[in-house]
Amino acid sequence: MLIPMADYAAGVEVANDLVSTSPTVRGAEALSGPADLAGLLAAYDVAAPVADDVEKVRFLRGEVRAVMESGTEDEAVERLALLAGHAGLAPVLRRDPSGRWRWYVPTARDAALVGEVAALVGVALLGLVRALGHDRFRACAAPGCGGVFADASRAGRRRYCMPELCGNRQNVANHRARRRAVAR
Ligand SMILES: [Zn+2]
Repeated sequence: MLIPMADYAAGVEVANDLVSTSPTVRGAEALSGPADLAGLLAAYDVAAPVADDVEKVRFLRGEVRAVMESGTEDEAVERLALLAGHAGLAPVLRRDPSGRWRWYVPTARDAALVGEVAALVGVALLGLVRALGHDRFRACAAPGCGGVFADASRAGRRRYCMPELCGNRQNVANHRARRRAVAR
């Protein structure tokens, strides 16, 4: 896999999607088999996952969450360097379709799938910390949600780990609160 160094947003979303599959966020395991993992990586040219990959990526998921919950920027960068280093090689320059040079981190040819995912997520989150800072790692604002996420948006106003699900949960809570206020 060739991981772009400057365009980190897509890799950050893989990290967010991965962390959001956890039972602590969903109430049940949402990374339950190779099909779930294949879905997470649909945009990437990787080998078809097998059951063993799923187990390893679940372990990686805990590491990614630890990055998002790290107390300091330096700790986050240290953890991310380890993730990126699992399968990441020295950066290379490649021309993009318009002929401009771009930095990429290639992964080792014989890398295991979990190593490729670790490198993808590690490089992307390092890019996010470099460009936007450590306070882009946040806890989900939805009531009762245990999710965490990285906000790669330009404005930096993202509040939910799964915007459609958790944003909606918040709307329902607000609606109920309003109804209670009216009934009083
Ligand atoms: Zn959430």
